Amino acid sequence: MEKIKLGISTCLLGENVRYDGGHKLDRFLTDTLGGYVEYVPVCPEVECGLPIPRESMHLEGDPDSPRLVTTRSKQDMTDRMFQWARKRVIELEKDNLCGFIFKSDSPSSGMERVKVYNEKGMPVKRGVGMFARIFMEHFLLLPVEDEGRLHDPNLRENFIERIFALKRWREILSKKESRGTLVEFHTKHKLLILSHSPKYYQMMGKLVAKAKEIPIKELYQQYQAILMEALQLKTSPKKNANVLQHMMGYFREQLSADEKRELLEVIDLYRKEIIPLIVPITLINHYVRKYDQPYLKEQIYLNPHPLELQLRNHV
Ligand code: SF4
Repeated sequence: MEKIKLGISTCLLGENVRYDGGHKLDRFLTDTLGGYVEYVPVCPEVECGLPIPRESMHLEGDPDSPRLVTTRSKQDMTDRMFQWARKRVIELEKDNLCGFIFKSDSPSSGMERVKVYNEKGMPVKRGVGMFARIFMEHFLLLPVEDEGRLHDPNLRENFIERIFALKRWREILSKKESRGTLVEFHTKHKLLILSHSPKYYQMMGKLVAKAKEIPIKELYQQYQAILMEALQLKTSPKKNANVLQHMMGYFREQLSADEKRELLEVIDLYRKEIIPLIVPITLINHYVRKYDQPYLKEQIYLNPHPLELQLRNHV
């Protein structure tokens, strides 16, 4: 698989583009995730023509449509940023991004809970950075996160799983559209979808079952939208344990009573959050290889992202 293209706030890469001439290097993003992705850096404030260093800015006014204003001299940068951002998102279409990692809390780049000041100078954490808002409105289905939220292991796994899924989907889109290709993609992703939402699993199963009745372009569009929605829903130990038990059913004939007991114990320890997900997954992967189970062998759920990222190693 070629590298995944991800947009990123430039300062997170260690570039000295912040208002004070500094950066906000995030080592996980550069040194670990960076091995699998190609970053497309975007610094709204510098790219819209502001110097380094520069006066700091913040959001003011109505939290749903705030103004971007410099903190000391009160220059209003809203129109300048807005015009630049509208053009920049159109340019970014050609990069075929699979997601964006924003700098948290920034009035330009923050994706949520950014401070917006009222006329009395009191902040409420309800704003969205100006560029981040325009980006998210333009690329409605793209996975987005900020570096602060990515420190949470569950949010990190969810985001990275989504960007890898979108990359695989984009590979499907680069081929000739066909119902067979879509069904094959769906079959491989079934258990991954089930681990996020049994409801979406059923909904997508119904969509694929009536694939022949839907014009192919519409089918692809509907499938992509529902897939991205489904994967955005959080997994949980309970949902994962159900998928693991479902997989265990494929070995009913082969496993000895002892092996079944051991696997059930491991799944239960995972459900109780005593051991990480990687433990039952490794055991099931072992049985999949040993018994050459054809359906499970193809399941992305067993290998949704590189092991080296250690995304399933936490409890
Ligand atoms: S937060 Fe955004 S605007 Fe500010 S320095 Fe980083 S990339 Fe540039």
